Amino acid sequence: MIPQFNDQSITVAIVGCGGFIGCHLLDAILTRTKWRVFGVDLDFYRIQHRLNDERCEFMVADLADKSVVERIAKYPIVVNLAAICTPSRYMAEAPEVIRSNYDHPAALADACAKSGSWLIHFSTSEIYGRTSADSDLLVEDESELTFGPVTASRWSYATAKLLTERYIAGLKNLKWTVVRPFNFVGPYMDFMPGVDGSGIPRVLANFSSALVRGEPLKLVNGGVAKRSFTSVFDAVDFMFALFEAELSTSATENAAEKSPLSQAFNIGNPENELTIAELANKMRKIFAEIKGVSVDTIPEPEEVSGVEYYGEGYEDSMRRLPSVEKAERLLGFKAKTPIDVVLRESLEWFVGHYSNG
Ligand code: UDP
Repeated sequence: MIPQFNDQSITVAIVGCGGFIGCHLLDAILTRTKWRVFGVDLDFYRIQHRLNDERCEFMVADLADKSVVERIAKYPIVVNLAAICTPSRYMAEAPEVIRSNYDHPAALADACAKSGSWLIHFSTSEIYGRTSADSDLLVEDESELTFGPVTASRWSYATAKLLTERYIAGLKNLKWTVVRPFNFVGPYMDFMPGVDGSGIPRVLANFSSALVRGEPLKLVNGGVAKRSFTSVFDAVDFMFALFEAELSTSATENAAEKSPLSQAFNIGNPENELTIAELANKMRKIFAEIKGVSVDTIPEPEEVSGVEYYGEGYEDSMRRLPSVEKAERLLGFKAKTPIDVVLRESLEWFVGHYSNG
């Protein structure tokens, strides 16, 4: 805990404050610091309990509005979490996905460069592209980035996010940090299709929805792709390590070697790597335990082709294993929540929240 966390004059702007990551970050900032928050989003259902907090000001808006962008950039710390990040939309609505993930954050970066704010921009681990099954650790400043052809619109999201990273890194006078989330999971993730969202959410929400509905989990292309799942609570701890590294007095002393500025960081947990088929089986078991039934009563997973499931233009990253050495070296941060704990807390929340869905 650094003294700056008690500084009541600091306001953090959180763009996408009502989303999955934003709602947890908002809670943590209000609990662990005396800071104020300026929160921007279009949907506030996850943060109802904070709407009347005297340390918060909320605005129903998005970054398409230039006056909103300028207003956000008045605050000294700006965290940008806003994005279209529903996989099925990457194929169906590529132009909107690109605008949301490039045009809008680039405008915000311009405004922050002008005002002198520190922009912490959430990018994605998808920028590592079409990785193969035997690809090694993904290292922030070293890994080769390969994407599919332009007709494979799966990569609309990744390439827009990557262009934004490059734009941010190229802006003179911008104080920036880029973070690349590796499959964050936890309570409030995504949505239940047909209940509070449409399209296909990310795998954990989709599997949870199928379990609650008693339907088979769908294994895209056999479920052989691997992901490293990271607790959203670890991600919030990463953010505090980042704040500390930049704001504490000791940071000014060893500014050159330890600064988190002008750096992209993976946030991930390489110890939580699973194939999607392994994930499906773990989730079936945990769900059976939560419900107090035998796992044999839970439908077996079914295989489906990626193109059939997501539409033309779907391709996949076969392995996404983060190097976390940089976050450890510069911030002293390491994710610690094991996979079984992360999955259980996510699924328990989902079952409780949507049991009538
Ligand atoms: N996937 C799956 N069944 C689903 C949803 C996703 O097998 O119902 C697979 C998907 O093809 C990918 C992995 O799970 O290989 C992770 O997909 P997700 O949409 O969560 O995001 P990604 O990590 O690809 O960005």
